Amino acid sequence: MLTIALSKGRILKQTLPLLKKAGLEISDTELNSRKLILNTNFDTVKVIIIRASDVPIFVQHGAADMGIAGKDVLLEHGGSGLFELLDLGIAKCRLMVAASDKAKLKQNTLKIATKYIHSTQCYFAAKGTQIEVIKLYGAMELAPKVGLAHCIVDLVDTGNTLKANGLIAFEKIEDISSRLVVNSSAFKTKDTQIKAWIENIKKSL
Ligand code: AMP
Repeated sequence: MLTIALSKGRILKQTLPLLKKAGLEISDTELNSRKLILNTNFDTVKVIIIRASDVPIFVQHGAADMGIAGKDVLLEHGGSGLFELLDLGIAKCRLMVAASDKAKLKQNTLKIATKYIHSTQCYFAAKGTQIEVIKLYGAMELAPKVGLAHCIVDLVDTGNTLKANGLIAFEKIEDISSRLVVNSSAFKTKDTQIKAWIENIKKSL
């Protein structure tokens, strides 16, 4: 049996057509059910659909053999216990530093609201900028407006969310896309099955 963990939401919409092209299908009945473990058109493959940030955790601990998650989430997780094997080139966006104006970024201690703690700390440490990170779980754009932070670090796709909140992206931390990850032990114990699926997915890219 092979279990694949998929990220809910925006990534899922682009993942399902890719998997279908690779030969793996999940029926609408399964997708619309309240079940947490979904059947596929293969008896040997099950799918779980979970929060994006939980995907690397399930894969790391072997609760899922493979997973599809954004690079943003994988950078935060750190990659322990899993191999990142394929860049799927879907759900592309950028991890950016945004503020209402550039002057806001020139502080002795820059206050940054984000859920991307690790990436933010690495980026500003490399620049030698002293920062204070304020961990938020959503609605980051609100933080500069209410004086909680000087700027934010968040994912930007079209830039519409930033624009609607009077923010401008000034610095790029990372280009982001979804990646296929595999549990490091499963990669050895289930290698034939996993390698076959990787080949199918590669061909469908
Ligand atoms: P946009 O307004 O198109 O720039 O999208 C920005 C909003 O969508 C932010 O709240 C992001 O956190 C979220 N977002 C954009 N791209 C992605 C992605 N590839 N994966 C997850 N969230 C994303």
